[in-house]
Amino acid sequence: MNSLTKNWASIQQQLSQHRRKLDGEYLRLRDQEETKVAFAEGVAISKKHWIGRRPVNCEGKGCQYCDDYGEDTVTANVLQNVFTLTDEELKIFEGPPAVISELVKLSKDHDPSEWAFTVRRDGTGFDTRYSVRPYKKLTLEQKEKVANLELYDLDAEAGNDSPETADASEDEAPEDEASVTEDPLD
Ligand SMILES: [Zn+2]
Repeated sequence: MNSLTKNWASIQQQLSQHRRKLDGEYLRLRDQEETKVAFAEGVAISKKHWIGRRPVNCEGKGCQYCDDYGEDTVTANVLQNVFTLTDEELKIFEGPPAVISELVKLSKDHDPSEWAFTVRRDGTGFDTRYSVRPYKKLTLEQKEKVANLELYDLDAEAGNDSPETADASEDEAPEDEASVTEDPLD
């Protein structure tokens, strides 16, 4: 290998590491598949436009896609850091807003810092649903692993402004949040 091709190889490796750091690994489930996870810290709203079949992050204020296609083409999902109990890996779980409602309800009796949950997918495309139910209590060892994870920066992943700048934006009407539709997650 001459020095240029060596450099290329090294650059290629650095780029792929950089990409891996930026693009978190997502939890992928097939239709009717389920898995056990612990919910780690971190949750963010991910707003996307679907251009053809390709998701593009919505930039919020001044978003080119909002201008071109209308704000009603924005779909909102929720990103969460999860620790998979079988593979013991940190993943990003992208779920529809309904999952959050379920978790809020469940967490009254099942503290997410104490409990593992089963996440299940049913359906495909626009008919995809995700459900969550308590699995069993986390072991001390599992809790320790979850506490020591180097978490994904979910706001960065979703292309959101940092929370401080997001808070400063006054006129974002809450109605907009309610009117967004769920996307097919596929
Ligand atoms: Zn937009």
